[in-house]
Amino acid sequence: MNLRKHVISNIANKKLEVRKDGRDCDITAIYGQDVFNLKTMKDYLPKPVYRKLMHTIRNGATLDPTIADDVSNAMKRWALSKGASHYTHWFQPLTGSTAEKHDSFIEPDLEGGVMMDFSGKSLVKGEPDASSFPSGGIRATFEARGYTAWDPTSPAFIKHSASGAVLCIPTAFCSYTGEALDKKTPLLRSMQVISAQTKRLLACFGEKVDGKVVATLGPEQEYFLIDKELYLARPDLIQTGRTLFGSVSAKHQQMEDHYFGAVKERILNFMNEADQTLWKLGIPAKTRHNEVAPAQFELAPIFEELNLAVDHNMIVMEVLRVVASHHGLVCLTHEKPFAGVNGSGKHNNWSLMVSPDGKNLLEPGKNPHENAIFLTLLCAIIRAVDRHADILRATVAHAGNDHRLGANEAPPAIISIFLGEQLTDVIGQIEKGGSRSSKSGGTMHVGVDTLPILPKDATDRNRTSPFAFTGNKFEFRAVGSNQSCAGPNIALNTIVGESIDEIATELEKVPAAKFNNSLQAILQDIIKTHKRVIFNGDNYTAEWAKEAAKRGLPNFKKTPEALDSLLSKKAEHLFAKYKVLSKTELHSRHEVYIEEYKKTIILEGTLALNMVKTIFIPVAIRQQSIIADNVIKLKAIGVSAGSEEQKKKAVIIGSLISRLCGSGEKMEKFLEAYRTDAILKETENMREAVDKLEQEVDDDLWPLPKYGEMLFIY
Ligand code: ADP
Ligand code: MG
Repeated sequence: MNLRKHVISNIANKKLEVRKDGRDCDITAIYGQDVFNLKTMKDYLPKPVYRKLMHTIRNGATLDPTIADDVSNAMKRWALSKGASHYTHWFQPLTGSTAEKHDSFIEPDLEGGVMMDFSGKSLVKGEPDASSFPSGGIRATFEARGYTAWDPTSPAFIKHSASGAVLCIPTAFCSYTGEALDKKTPLLRSMQVISAQTKRLLACFGEKVDGKVVATLGPEQEYFLIDKELYLARPDLIQTGRTLFGSVSAKHQQMEDHYFGAVKERILNFMNEADQTLWKLGIPAKTRHNEVAPAQFELAPIFEELNLAVDHNMIVMEVLRVVASHHGLVCLTHEKPFAGVNGSGKHNNWSLMVSPDGKNLLEPGKNPHENAIFLTLLCAIIRAVDRHADILRATVAHAGNDHRLGANEAPPAIISIFLGEQLTDVIGQIEKGGSRSSKSGGTMHVGVDTLPILPKDATDRNRTSPFAFTGNKFEFRAVGSNQSCAGPNIALNTIVGESIDEIATELEKVPAAKFNNSLQAILQDIIKTHKRVIFNGDNYTAEWAKEAAKRGLPNFKKTPEALDSLLSKKAEHLFAKYKVLSKTELHSRHEVYIEEYKKTIILEGTLALNMVKTIFIPVAIRQQSIIADNVIKLKAIGVSAGSEEQKKKAVIIGSLISRLCGSGEKMEKFLEAYRTDAILKETENMREAVDKLEQEVDDDLWPLPKYGEMLFIY
């Protein structure tokens, strides 16, 4: 039996895996049990220490170094009670994944035994050897030192495995000279920017914020699950996370029967364990469902403060992978694991909230005063997105996402804003100078006093826009499923922060009596200049691409050109001005991401070549040989029927062999010369030939699991 058939029969005989019956799980009791959260801190810390730490966490105050020992001691006692033997600084280098290096708590007691030790110093600062992380030239290997610094705003948590546990401490990661080497540092900086600028703006409206303004994030995570046995028979999935080959099966997503369909029991067992694991980690997993493509699913949490939400999303991806393996499944977070069906994105739901009172600033107002604030923020965002569409585009640029953006299932690479009909109407009124009629009918109250009042539920649904207003938040839909949310939100916070800064600067100069008119004029001006970025139609059409070009909106189709926007003077100025990323840091990021892109393309090309030479050409030869044998035998017994047709088939397969050999020779040259564009194209050419071959070769001979198997057998 060939490997494929063997694997499928294994799956057929598999028993459903249930690690633990979740029906007796008391969710309110387990929620957060693996997190050193405020409640636990209160139990473990002396009151004054707890208060100081709270001050840091709630108000973003600098950490008082004298409390570090008390906190580390409490954390250690708590972690030991959870069975932890090790601790690690957990950080997010520019690789896009998370990093950890474990140290055990043991300390020799000099009597032949050990004590368990964890000092304040080890909590606050770590010194991992940073030489092997990408730094884009910031940190030459001879000065390999990098530092991790405790981020008290994201609570420590415990990672369990069947045989032990480790205490994970979220940290920022920077170089000896203080440059950010990670994604958290600039994220925290950008959060300070948006907080400070929004507070300034609110002050112009007479609103004093005692705490801070925080950006909130609810990232919807899409992923695929396939059976592990099928996965293990696909070197392309193992090494690149996506299928480099495979012809689309007859049944794919055309029946529209997967989206929101009843969840299969095996998947439900997986989802239950995943949710319970996440709840223990204090991650508010809320929604789960079947997605559009077969074998595709989604998990959405309740939104949280941005920094925490980004950390949590990194943990979500890891938990999905780990729990999948418990169930004999593999979780694929690649943006496009399978051609011909939908890819996976990560809808980045972003808003601004006043902390601690929880007021959502992107909630359309209930009275003219609130409306004015909302519309001002809306205009600030419109300007920010139009002015820096190229930067937003750059933050979602990577090899995996190139298969998605612009394909007819995901938002295009053109960044535009969806506002919905009613809000667009309101914006139109402001542009005209504060009109007095409302599209939805009803009374039009005039601004503070010139701004129109907002209709209730001021949004319709649009699934094709990359940046959509969805009632009380913006949803940036171009983010890739495998990507950290940090980058896109660093950009969002900074570009919106800049735009708010400009409005606040103008308003601060205005005397109270002229406030309303000045505000009206500012917003009118913004809309006139930036309304081109608003588009409520179908973003998937060719007409929109044309129209967008006419409007002068950028359209960067591929990663390298999209990333180049990070090198513009505009980007340098923006990130340096708000101290989010220095020029060096920004350029280093560009270098790291370009390198990552090239390495991905080269890896895929190398693997495609290898698979063509060692798997597909040999299969084609075997098939030909079977035909040739048969034709000879037929001739020997004097049968001519069907012989010509078989010869024709041998010719078709022969020409595919020639095509693959030719393609292989070209690929070798391109790989030697690091010609990424050519490699990318050749990988596609190889795929085309192999996918044709798959249609010609005896099913018993075909070695790799086919699409119809990977997507439907689980
Ligand atoms: P969908 O967009 O699929 O219809 P929802 O609109 O219900 O789903 O929510 C999607 C995500 O948006 C959820 O993760 C939710 O927590 C998040 N979200 C809701 N309100 C906010 C907010 N104010 N800030 C950030 N994210 C939010
Ligand atoms: Mg959504």
